[in-house]
Amino acid sequence: MDHNLGVLDPVIPGIFPESLRRHPTPLRVMPGAPASTAGKVVPSVTDHIQHVAVVGAGYMGGGIAQVLAMAGFDVVIVDADSAATRRHLDRLRREAEDFEAQGLFDAGSADLVRANLRAADSLPEAVAEADLIEEAVLEQPEIKGPVLKSIEAAARPEAIIGSNTSTLPIGDLAANLTRAERFLGIHFSNPAPFIPGVELIAHTATDEAVVQAVETVVARTGKLSARVNDKAGFVLNRLQYVLLKEAINLVEEGVATAEDIDIVVRTTFGYRLPFFGPFAIADMAGLDVYQDCFRTLEDHYGERLAAPAMLTELVDTGRYGVKQGGGFVIPAGDQARLIEYRNAAYAKLGQLLRDLGPAPR
Ligand code: NAD
Repeated sequence: MDHNLGVLDPVIPGIFPESLRRHPTPLRVMPGAPASTAGKVVPSVTDHIQHVAVVGAGYMGGGIAQVLAMAGFDVVIVDADSAATRRHLDRLRREAEDFEAQGLFDAGSADLVRANLRAADSLPEAVAEADLIEEAVLEQPEIKGPVLKSIEAAARPEAIIGSNTSTLPIGDLAANLTRAERFLGIHFSNPAPFIPGVELIAHTATDEAVVQAVETVVARTGKLSARVNDKAGFVLNRLQYVLLKEAINLVEEGVATAEDIDIVVRTTFGYRLPFFGPFAIADMAGLDVYQDCFRTLEDHYGERLAAPAMLTELVDTGRYGVKQGGGFVIPAGDQARLIEYRNAAYAKLGQLLRDLGPAPR
């Protein structure tokens, strides 16, 4: 059985749009997202990124800078003024020492941060020599726009510029730039030193070679990138905000308290999520069962919670998931190894939770 559960497998012809199938080449190009720029001369910075600038050294920018420094990149941070930048540099060095002492960072990490992370006195100084610049200032277009313009004005023409925006469409931010083909979303998650996933969001004009160069950078940090099309909120926050909104709806309707909803989420479906995404979970539970459940939900909540066409089409063609015909991402077949993995995963997660104890309040 294929355990590569996080990737859409092309086992369901006619169900997934071509753009969402796993690409047969290692490039994992998604048609419908970034237009490839075949024939374009791509400057060599895309082949070798070593100097990185992070603009905005707060919560996210600081963590991203630590991650890159620990991966061996030469990293410069800059914040709103030089005093703030110095404070952030001191904090990031101290944090790295603490995390290493607590066993959360590998031995030698604090030395890497001390050696590879510097502070610049101004934005132009920070970005002048950078191959890659990551913008991580506040989530407000009226702040990000001028910062992106200043970055481009001071950067080398071949530099790649990324934004850590959580929700703003990358194409809208790109309107601030003249070399928009070298711009993309590079969305780290919080806390950046510990969360492994990074969304990469190309807008329609982003050069394919730029996306690939950033994929290489992310891989060098040991994190896992996923390509996402340019729609507000991308994948992470579209899903996360829908969950929170519905959770608040439940409180407002008096179905459960916030505390009890958190217990249900953490101890039931949330317990599966470190190992399996929603598609793999549905495949294992049985898509026919999901269709039946959607019927009840539609009866009570209307079209909003009706079975999606993609699910109905699978069930109508006899694909019920792992148990029969294959599902969204897991083919049908011998389930023994999958069940063994699943049981080990949940048992070990239980042990981890017992070791850590409840989160302090
Ligand atoms: P933050 O407030 O901790 O950091 C922003 C930093 O930008 C501050 O230190 C501020 O002084 C600095 N800044 C403001 N204007 C500047 C300028 N002109 N030049 C240089 N620096 C400037 O915010 P954050 O949580 O790190 O968020 C930064 C970005 O990351 C936002 O786009 C946010 O949406 C995104 N993000 C945040 C999280 C999160 O959970 N906090 C998660 C993922 C992505």
